[in-house]
Amino acid sequence: MRMEPLNLDRKGLVKLLALPDFSPIYRKADQVRAAHKGDTVQIRAIVEFSNYCRRQCRYCGLNCKNTTAERYRMTPEEILACANMAAEAGYRTLVMQSGEDPYFTPQLLGELIREIKKTGMAVTLSCGEMPYAAYAYLKSCGADRYLLKHETADPEIYARLHPCGTLENRVRCLCDLKSLGYETGSGFMIGLPGQTLETIADDLLLLEKIGCDMAGIGPFIPHPQTPLKGCPAGSIELTKRAVALARLLLPDINLPATTALGVAGGESENDIFSCGANVIMRKVTPDPYKQKYEIYPAHFEKTDIPAERAFLERRIRALGRIPL
Ligand code: SAM
Repeated sequence: MRMEPLNLDRKGLVKLLALPDFSPIYRKADQVRAAHKGDTVQIRAIVEFSNYCRRQCRYCGLNCKNTTAERYRMTPEEILACANMAAEAGYRTLVMQSGEDPYFTPQLLGELIREIKKTGMAVTLSCGEMPYAAYAYLKSCGADRYLLKHETADPEIYARLHPCGTLENRVRCLCDLKSLGYETGSGFMIGLPGQTLETIADDLLLLEKIGCDMAGIGPFIPHPQTPLKGCPAGSIELTKRAVALARLLLPDINLPATTALGVAGGESENDIFSCGANVIMRKVTPDPYKQKYEIYPAHFEKTDIPAERAFLERRIRALGRIPL
């Protein structure tokens, strides 16, 4: 049965998000994914190299007001050893993520990028907001992509949850990254207090406006040492709906099954591949750091880079998709 063309403006998106039966939209998103991205699932390694953060994002366990967090910084040697192991295990991309940690200056990050690029892997950075000149310098050192979620497109919710920043500056960063030629990733959380279906529609439309190449959409998960500790977690169903609509709105972008979805939704991390997603990240952060990168409470198995990659490849093949 052919579907009527979908209305993907703000009103149309709100209506779709609220549908009693979303299954035809999931099917459509899966078809669009297959037509535009093929059947591969890109597996990307992520190393969380520092959990120091100067910011106070009210939902995040890394915020500097959380005095119970055990802080760590990986040494450059540890980061490079981890990168080499990821490359040997078959990863083609290393995502370098951290809190906003001024210890890792653009110069230090640049040296690390140059070394990591020697492995042949692409480098994605996810280290927060920086001035244009820093992003430009890191690009000149070989960084390929940058992930910086806009978190919420509602300026009031943004201001309430981010005492240290503005939505305007977040979007300025994303536009700078795009103009510098980075493959630019944004994204947002589902279930932040005050969020409505209209906010989610605005989030989706902001991805389009920025011209994102990638979007990470994941559920909010409350962390007990943050001001949002008593708030309910974001809905898994709504997260999947937002991913499917992102695929319809932006057919060519990369859409990861976010780690938060895997943590909160268990098996939903698998279903998300039939809702439009085509990317997954795997933590290669060594122990004991992995468990200390606690943006939300989660239990992660001990790090075994080759074994975890092989396991994930089998899971992806079992879904009829091709791991890359
Ligand atoms: N400092 C970098 C930045 O600001 O983009 C990267 C690190 S930050 C911890 C990575 C992402 O974690 C954020 O973009 C946010 O969406 C997500 N995050 C933080 N706390 C979360 C929570 N409680 N539930 C779900 N996602 C969360």
